[in-house]
Amino acid sequence: MLPRCFYPAVVFVKSEWDVVVAGGGPAGLFFAIKAAEGGLDVLVLDKKQEIGSPVRCAEGLGVDGVNMLLNAGLPDSDGWKGWPVKGAYLYAPNGRSVRIPGNGYVVERPIMEREMAKAATRKGARVLAAHDVCDVIKEGGRVAGVRARFLGEEREFRAPLVIAADGFESLLARKAGLNTFQPAYHVDSGFEYLMSGLDIDADAIHLFFGRDVAPRGYVWIFPKGDNTANVGIGIDARLDATAKQYLDRWIEKHGKDYGLSNASVLEVRGGGIPVGGFLKKMTADGLIVVGDAAHQVHPLHGGGMFLAMEAAEIAADVALKAFERGDFADSTLSEYNDRWWKLRGRSLETALKLRYAFERLDDEDFNYLVDVLGSEDVLAMAEGDAGAVRSIALRVLKDRPRLAWKFREFIGDVVMGSGG
Ligand SMILES: Cc1cc2nc3c(=O)[nH]c(=O)nc-3n(C[C@H](O)[C@H](O)[C@H](O)COP(=O)(O)OP(=O)(O)OC[C@H]3O[C@@H](n4cnc5c(N)ncnc54)[C@H](O)[C@@H]3O)c2cc1C
Repeated sequence: MLPRCFYPAVVFVKSEWDVVVAGGGPAGLFFAIKAAEGGLDVLVLDKKQEIGSPVRCAEGLGVDGVNMLLNAGLPDSDGWKGWPVKGAYLYAPNGRSVRIPGNGYVVERPIMEREMAKAATRKGARVLAAHDVCDVIKEGGRVAGVRARFLGEEREFRAPLVIAADGFESLLARKAGLNTFQPAYHVDSGFEYLMSGLDIDADAIHLFFGRDVAPRGYVWIFPKGDNTANVGIGIDARLDATAKQYLDRWIEKHGKDYGLSNASVLEVRGGGIPVGGFLKKMTADGLIVVGDAAHQVHPLHGGGMFLAMEAAEIAADVALKAFERGDFADSTLSEYNDRWWKLRGRSLETALKLRYAFERLDDEDFNYLVDVLGSEDVLAMAEGDAGAVRSIALRVLKDRPRLAWKFREFIGDVVMGSGG
């Protein structure tokens, strides 16, 4: 055995980088892949002991997201792609359903994130687990690096550009001086069991709606093959009862229909989901915020992996330009802000208005909508297709005028283009 002094105190790693990324989730790792591909010297720090675990996600990812990862260099393997699904069943409180088409996967997220970390490493980035970023280093008022704790040691990493990809509980952006305040009404509480022994149609995901089922959200069953599935719920975080209580109640009432009553629980997961309040300002001198840290999650369904990677790709492109110019001022980095709001932010604001409408629906409304809306209608609404929404509105509102009031902001935005 070597004497103690021969053991290095920390994993060997240099302290000067082009970019330091705080957070090795989909946002941080996708940024690292793209920025390293462009030639930047990138360090990713994540506080978890293991990249990818524990999981706080239902693992649903559309085919566009999977293709982004394949194009970014992940191997074409079922290991991380997981289980393919074709669309979704939406269930009204009375049990009737509508099936919407689509293609996606219920990915194996721990494997996916490891593959992302390996792809980033192949392109020249360095990823370090067990590094808890605790502060930003500021010089002359601008962000110039981070401080991190690794197994009790404090370390400093300096870089002209820092990426805050530290998820929903992000502290970094706030420490850098950005306003990251998230009102409670824009937060959902998520809870989930990974269950085995189910009896479900594993070709599609299953979403259950209703005021008593999941206020403002839904119960989900995302199949993973082999009679296994993520069974979870997302609800308004301000409610007195917890997400777990709502989910357990639903399983008690309806679980036998899907073989849940006698299923095994292999894992229990939970977490907060930002469903609105997209950050207006996501850059500062030497800093860009991406993913959940910038509240870039779809306010209707709570999916954030694709949006995190999409934003990270824009951020990497802007970072490469900043390095070309040698300019990391907010005025240069704010191109990321402008591009994200143009590409995605505005349509998410419209989706937010649809969320407000869904919050007002009662069970009778859900039953009615599932009966009268076809799968194409549901897709058109989710995509904010103005022409289609106009004709749906005319059809539905003639029958049920009170829905016009419940959908007022959405109709104003999409049909009239008023934004109100
Ligand atoms: C219950 C639940 C179900 C969900 N289901 C889906 C779904 O099916 N599909 C979907 O697309 N999205 C889903 N989401 C949302 C999705 O998980 C997020 O939107 C997505 O993970 C965002 O990626 P990110 O990289 O921005 O953040 P994260 O994935 O949260 O990654 C942030 C990383 O930063 C690290 N970190 C945090 N603080 C520090 C620090 N101080 N120092 C170093 N590292 C730090 C964390 O350890 C983490 O690895 C779900 C969320 C929840 C809670």
